[in-house]
Amino acid sequence: MNRREFLMSTLAAFALSALPKLTFGEAIPVSDAVKAKINPQNKLGFGFMRLPLTDPKDQTAIDYDELNKMVDLFLQRGFTYFDTAWMYMGHESEIALRKSLVERYPRDKFTVASKLPVGMIKSKEEQEEVFNKQLEKTGLKYFDYYLVHNVNAHTIDNVRNFDSFKFVNDKKKEGKVKQVGFSFHDSADMFEEVMKEYADQIDFVQLQINYIDWDNPGIEGRRCYEIAQKYNKPVVVMEPVKGGSLAAVPPAVEKIFKDAAPDMSVASWAVRYAASLPGVMMVLSGMSNLEQVEDNTSYMQNFKPLDARETQVVENAVKTLHSELQIPCTACRYCVDSCPMKIAIPEYFAIYNKGRQGFGSNPFRGQQAAYDKMAANHGKASACIGCRLCEKNCPQHIEISQWMKKIAKIFEA
Ligand code: SF4
Ligand code: SF4
Repeated sequence: MNRREFLMSTLAAFALSALPKLTFGEAIPVSDAVKAKINPQNKLGFGFMRLPLTDPKDQTAIDYDELNKMVDLFLQRGFTYFDTAWMYMGHESEIALRKSLVERYPRDKFTVASKLPVGMIKSKEEQEEVFNKQLEKTGLKYFDYYLVHNVNAHTIDNVRNFDSFKFVNDKKKEGKVKQVGFSFHDSADMFEEVMKEYADQIDFVQLQINYIDWDNPGIEGRRCYEIAQKYNKPVVVMEPVKGGSLAAVPPAVEKIFKDAAPDMSVASWAVRYAASLPGVMMVLSGMSNLEQVEDNTSYMQNFKPLDARETQVVENAVKTLHSELQIPCTACRYCVDSCPMKIAIPEYFAIYNKGRQGFGSNPFRGQQAAYDKMAANHGKASACIGCRLCEKNCPQHIEISQWMKKIAKIFEA
């Protein structure tokens, strides 16, 4: 066994030791107060973070013809929750929400969540400026849900120094926010610390939960969910499909799902997994085309939680998926702006992951052209200077600088 084979087998052993115990809500008490806030037939939220584009290289080039059809279908099928944020889609998402939803539908037909970008704000006063600008961008008079965005070990100082939760609760008193929450991207210990400090000032929390990260020590989905229940807070789930990576699983995993239910999409298993947790109020899906809206709404209408047989199917898929050792990038793009070398980090990770699904002695060969094309207009993986600025912003805690070395070796050798 050479060094590479040794490392791979060690990693695989680690991954298998971290398998989730798919016990769902039975093992985790959920209060009646939380259950009362949840409508099981309206648990799908439309994430405005991966919208359809007319130019795939330009995040702000929203394809409104497609987006309007997506919004129409989503509402027609009885869903109401839309999730946007200050910086999504190159700061264009809130404007896209106004054009595709707010200007086309009466206010009582939908609810909107947006977020205070506390990691990007430089002063307490700037919170007011950003909030007012968000109302202007969305064309709304109030937000149904408003979250302090991306609370973690790096942003918590701003949250404290700027009194961000008091700011948002003041907006609630003014009637400009209906429900207050925060989205969280860090360890369960950190989550507990934040909840101890602020649970009495919030109505809900937004967490990363999906079947592959339920017991992942880097994400700790289960522990965070348990803490949310301990504090009686309903959960909005983000990244149930892990940025699309649980929709494009390797063939062996796809076979497990298709054998169990030939007509159900692979993504449906991930969304239904998250929605099956009884403390979950909403599951967000960043939909990019009409087919995805069609698919998601089809199985979330008349929603039924996974039964025991289906739970076993997911557990089998998780075992197989862990052995594939893909880079767990969700394509959220939080790392991109911080890179001084303009490296196409999420794109290179997608190319790598696609390569890992290939066969033969050089499975990455089929992705060489995609890599070369991307590298022609961005920094190459080998341009990485190891500054790790990107890693501070990565909610998945990926060692990006280390992966850049590996990717350069594969595609630039
Ligand atoms: S570590 Fe590399 S990829 Fe990350 S910000 Fe620095 S140069 Fe960019
Ligand atoms: S590397 Fe991390 S921060 Fe960057 S896109 Fe992927 S998950 Fe997001």
